[in-house]
Amino acid sequence: MTETIAVIGAGQMGNGIAHVAAQAGLSVTMVDVSADALAKGKATVEKNLERQVKKGTLDAATRDATLGRIATSTDFGAVANATVAIEAATERRDLKFKIFADLDRLAPAGALLATNTSSISITEIAAQTKRPGDVIGMHFMNPVPMMKLVEVIRGLATTDATCQRTVALATALGKTPVEANDFPGFIANRILMPMINEAVYCVMEGVGTPAAVDEVMKLGMNHPMGPLALADLIGLDTCVAILDVLHDGLGDPKYRACPLLKKYVAAGWLGRKSGRGFYPYP
Ligand code: NAD
Repeated sequence: MTETIAVIGAGQMGNGIAHVAAQAGLSVTMVDVSADALAKGKATVEKNLERQVKKGTLDAATRDATLGRIATSTDFGAVANATVAIEAATERRDLKFKIFADLDRLAPAGALLATNTSSISITEIAAQTKRPGDVIGMHFMNPVPMMKLVEVIRGLATTDATCQRTVALATALGKTPVEANDFPGFIANRILMPMINEAVYCVMEGVGTPAAVDEVMKLGMNHPMGPLALADLIGLDTCVAILDVLHDGLGDPKYRACPLLKKYVAAGWLGRKSGRGFYPYP
């Protein structure tokens, strides 16, 4: 595998994707509008690699070589050197549309243009470019270094070659690709988000406390993590954004975001990343 990667967005997903790509031996540039996000993203990769060293699953030389393969830039023009761009910026249609229009202008011909969107139509994102055949969904799971799944989502115009190249890339990153079709939320979030939303309704209606809801799902359904702790990990703003896409795209009121979830987001309680969600993260 000789791909050179640009990751757009250095948040929790972007830095995780940069981590696994660099660890697989690929050169990576993380691009973000925020220098602060880039510094935090790189520091997170360093911290997570250090944890692997402490566990004895990685040696110090490999840690240093992996970190050395990750560059950062606030200049979007850095994508000109990439053979693969993986977009992992905030879950907003307008923002992703603009990024893909920019990628179309600035990424070299033949580059694979992937998006890590959780829910937004790959076909619509691809339509912002003059090369929709090269655009695909590459949906990693959080936390990226730990989770095996990559959902691979073809847009209407995605070519077989693009799909095969994406499957090969995901495999080279140590992941297991699973193909899904381009409907709102694809497979993962079509199933996960209604469950998280229902868990929030249980809290809002006083059916149970967050701890009780999570405990029932862990002990009763054998889930490794309760839905509210998982929502805090994903980011409550991202959960609302995905539910809005499901609601708009499928038109069924069963997907409307729970008012309590929206209230938390309005308060800036976004989960782990803001220090408070259904649980405090001091
Ligand atoms: P995040 O809030 O942690 O990070 C988003 C980053 O995007 C921020 O650093 C922000 O500065 C940056 N950004 C915003 N506008 C930008 C632009 N124009 N150019 C470059 N960077 C820009 O969000 P996240 O949780 O990492 O989510 C990123 C994407 O991954 C979203 O599409 C989300 O739906 C998807 N995703 C999230 C999860 C999850 O569990 N959080 C799982 C799978 C997929």
